[in-house]
Amino acid sequence: MHINSFITAKPPNSLIGFRFQVTSTSMKIDLHCHSYFSDGKHSPDFLIKRAIANRVTHLAITDHDCITTLDNSISLEPGLCLISGVEISCDWQAREIHVVGLCIDPQHRELLELLERQRAARNARILQMDAKLKALGIDGLAEYCAALPCQSATRSHVADFLVVQGHCKNRQKAFKNFLTTRGRIYVQYDWCDMAAAIAVIHTAGGLAVLAHPGRYSLSKHRLENLVDDFAAAGGDGLEASYGNIDPVTKNKLCEMASSKHLYVSAGSDFHDSEAHWTDIGKFPALDQPANKNAIWEHPGWHSR
Ligand code: AMP
Ligand code: MN
Ligand code: MN
Ligand code: MN
Repeated sequence: MHINSFITAKPPNSLIGFRFQVTSTSMKIDLHCHSYFSDGKHSPDFLIKRAIANRVTHLAITDHDCITTLDNSISLEPGLCLISGVEISCDWQAREIHVVGLCIDPQHRELLELLERQRAARNARILQMDAKLKALGIDGLAEYCAALPCQSATRSHVADFLVVQGHCKNRQKAFKNFLTTRGRIYVQYDWCDMAAAIAVIHTAGGLAVLAHPGRYSLSKHRLENLVDDFAAAGGDGLEASYGNIDPVTKNKLCEMASSKHLYVSAGSDFHDSEAHWTDIGKFPALDQPANKNAIWEHPGWHSR
């Protein structure tokens, strides 16, 4: 399906809009990034300005388990098309998997209800981590999280707290020593099932994309199982390129998408401009064959 003319209309400022008409010849996409609505460091406004500066034509802000809303003062320029997005944490065979929803109706009741349950599980998890930290003599996590501008509290925020309080040198060390499954205050997640995430994205008129499949530390065989289950549950696409992916993994994911008849998506997974290796719009380019089954060619990309 072809996308045919540049945007002229301004999307509503209160919500990230979707499906504005654009040309396919000059597309530069970024369909995965985070603002401070979840664990990104910056405002949606910052992301939009950065996308424009980096000549991105299609941007999806995909915060964890929440809908990112725009400030009314943000002026959207013609030439940047905003795709409404979300990244849902979910469970697949006792593993934590992320599914990106694109072109969703950001006001769909069932989607909002699922996201609310996810955030309730996040808040409960933070309280359990707070209790574990208190037992180690570290106070104040719950208060720190309550004062953040985010809607979705994540382990990244807990890592920041541990760094700010001087208990860890950096985020990586905080994850390694405290927050990964073998960490001192690890608390089991309580996310929806992967199939439920895919279903609710579809119910909200969107397309479901398996986020960063190469980051789950799965064997080749298990990754195939995951992708097969994702496809069987109606998933639409795989993220075949993202920040820091190596060329071998990228090519493997492009081939996998093609062999499983899935579309291909891509995005930076940008969180923070101080992490100099990431930027909006920055990830290894998809090659031409992958562009043929690009997610923006999916018939559902436009229609609701
Ligand atoms: P949560 O959804 O609360 O489990 O937090 C997951 C978020 O933490 C991810 O979206 C990443 O941004 C971040 N994260 C996960 N693992 C690591 C790690 N090892 N080092 C740094 N950040 C991480
Ligand atoms: Mn994150
Ligand atoms: Mn993710
Ligand atoms: Mn992400």
